[in-house]
Amino acid sequence: MKKLIIIKYGELTTKKENINLFITTLKQNIKQKLNDSTIEIKFDKGRMFIYTSEKFFKDVVHKLKEVFGIHEIIIGYELKTLNLDEIKQTLINLLEAKEFKTFKVETKRSNKKIPKTSVEINSELGAFLLKNRKNIKVNVHNPELTIYLELRNNESYLYFETIEGLGGYPVSTLGKGLLMLSGGIDSPVAGFMTIKRGVKLEALYFESPPHTSIEAKNKVIELARNLAKYNNEIKLHVINFTEIQEAIYKNIPHEYLITIMRRIMYRIAEILANRNNCKILVNGESIGQVASQTLTSMKAINEVVNIPVIRPLACFDKLEIISISKKINTYETSILPFEDCCTIFVPRHPVINPDRKLCKEYEELIPYKDLIYKAIKEHEIIKIVEKQHQKFTDLL
Ligand code: ATP
Ligand code: MG
Repeated sequence: MKKLIIIKYGELTTKKENINLFITTLKQNIKQKLNDSTIEIKFDKGRMFIYTSEKFFKDVVHKLKEVFGIHEIIIGYELKTLNLDEIKQTLINLLEAKEFKTFKVETKRSNKKIPKTSVEINSELGAFLLKNRKNIKVNVHNPELTIYLELRNNESYLYFETIEGLGGYPVSTLGKGLLMLSGGIDSPVAGFMTIKRGVKLEALYFESPPHTSIEAKNKVIELARNLAKYNNEIKLHVINFTEIQEAIYKNIPHEYLITIMRRIMYRIAEILANRNNCKILVNGESIGQVASQTLTSMKAINEVVNIPVIRPLACFDKLEIISISKKINTYETSILPFEDCCTIFVPRHPVINPDRKLCKEYEELIPYKDLIYKAIKEHEIIKIVEKQHQKFTDLL
């Protein structure tokens, strides 16, 4: 008998044709996450099995909780037999140290060659336990202990509890997207939700030195590092937006500052996305949150690009967004008080219903195409990896 970690894929199993891609990508992502060649991983269409020394289990489970595509994590026992008598004997031994008064058995039989049904096996094992252990009762509705038995090809698996995984799809299975990442609360949450759907993210940050500080940039790097936990690593594009922003500020009526600024941000984002094979833009916009996120503003801003723009937070309240950001540990970084390029040039009365014709007219007042290409030509790329953890074997 071997103690091991078992993974249930959850939503993945509904992907009939692509299931192999999903599972092999998940395996690669887990390997990269665990970063330890001594850990062996096997899989079939229903489960993944991770073999390593028991002393690393806690750390491995901790890491697996940050991997999308995992529905449940289980610490269990592998028996190289399908023989029920042998299973019963092992079960009695495993239960020796466990305190419980009520129990039920839940059998899953993916190997349909086994002549007995799951229900028959449940009652056979139940009856066996009642005979061999004193003061216990079956309770199918609310048992203190559930005994899970899975009968697969040539092996059976026993376990007693499951740990919830993050769900979603393995990162990269849906291709790449470009996240517009500010230092605020919303965009890291939008990023997390998009990675959950299997999209590998690159990130894009607009800075305006000297109007924005190095601390503001470091904050964005820290947020990206947090997302890198779920994304394997993350490529952060940094665009120097100063010249563009100053040109807008000097030449364009101030109520249109933000609208024009965002139209130019979108254009830059689309070019970078196309160059880096990202199929969507992602941002933290939420309907009605600020003047640039009214429906008329969104239309006026969105119309300058062809690429799909995904707004995972479009219909979320700020309080709901804050609650997720606390869960994913980005909140404390997001609320650090360093100014963003949007906040510095905020006009007193930004237009709520921008006129699209006026947007075009105003844009012509600056050489925005040249400025865009210059900014892209000079842009900086930072590769961000999650804070390096030690190999589990190094912890010995
Ligand atoms: P957040 O929305 O992340 O809390 P914010 O409130 O400062 O930050 P908004 O003005 O609401 O930003 O902008 C909406 C979205 O536009 C952001 O969620 C982000 O995706 C994008 N964005 C804003 N500023 C920047 C920036 N400096 N660099 C990259 N993307 C940005
Ligand atoms: Mg916002």
